[in-house]
Amino acid sequence: MASTGIVWTEGFLRHDTGPHHPERPDRLTAIYERLRQTGLLKRSVIIEPPYVDLKLVERVHAREYVDRFRRHCEQGEHAIDTPDCPICPSSYDIARLAAGGCVAAVDRVMAGELRNAFCPVRPPGHHAEYRSAMGFCFLNNTAIAAEHLHAEHGVERVAILDWDVHHGNGTQHQFDADAGTLFISVHQHPYTLFPGTGFEWETGAADAVGLTLNIPMMPGTGDEEYREAFEEQILPKIAAFKPGFILVSTGFDAHEQDPLGQINLSTDAFGWMTRQVRALADSLCGGRLVTILEGGYDLASLADSTQAHVEGLMNHGAHPPGD
Ligand SMILES: [Zn+2]
Repeated sequence: MASTGIVWTEGFLRHDTGPHHPERPDRLTAIYERLRQTGLLKRSVIIEPPYVDLKLVERVHAREYVDRFRRHCEQGEHAIDTPDCPICPSSYDIARLAAGGCVAAVDRVMAGELRNAFCPVRPPGHHAEYRSAMGFCFLNNTAIAAEHLHAEHGVERVAILDWDVHHGNGTQHQFDADAGTLFISVHQHPYTLFPGTGFEWETGAADAVGLTLNIPMMPGTGDEEYREAFEEQILPKIAAFKPGFILVSTGFDAHEQDPLGQINLSTDAFGWMTRQVRALADSLCGGRLVTILEGGYDLASLADSTQAHVEGLMNHGAHPPGD
């Protein structure tokens, strides 16, 4: 089976962050319209997201926090934990759909029904911590998908690659001491960008020392430096880990047009990075790969990068590694 799945529900558009917030519904509308106009949506299998199982969520977040998130939404609060995490009454339910969609994508790939899948969900997840919302994120979708792979599917080794321009702090902290999960984050240098973590010396704890790899990039970094990081560090590190499944936190905010970061990746770089990881998944773990949207705030380049990304997921075997 060579199909690519795409998680989609219009429900994702109803997480209302207010009039001036960069993490806004228009982001997903831009992605959806581009995938529709290019025919990529038609070539995909649409995955309808279910609500995530709360027992699974509690592997990643404290019950106290999850309850507080639900109550804040029910009570009509306007934000939780920090002003940059705005909520509306539906945000709790929509966050459960976002995480549930990622879990459903993992299930379909594990069942062999799909080769791989892209989850353009919102709200995003990689900054969400065990007890708090952070950086536009409420439930850590990628961490929840990885825990599901371990707990439900018995996958011993899961590799997570996070190429959002911001460090994936919540995901890293979830798996700091987990020898079954490799976490790699390539992001703008923490001295120069939120959330201020993700230094090279953060390498994991206990039995998992060496299973966290942070690659900070200075502002102005572009395609060549990312290509070098992939070829010399990221791809060999994943290959040596021999994962049974690869997850990608695919933010598109390292694009040169993005207003939140100062990294200068071209649209083509997102296609190239996707093809590298897809080829690696094909060679290591039967192609089992699910990618999960994080950031990306310039609508035109978000649509362009997403198109390149989904094309990269689909063209199994069409490009040799290194093209
Ligand atoms: Zn980001």
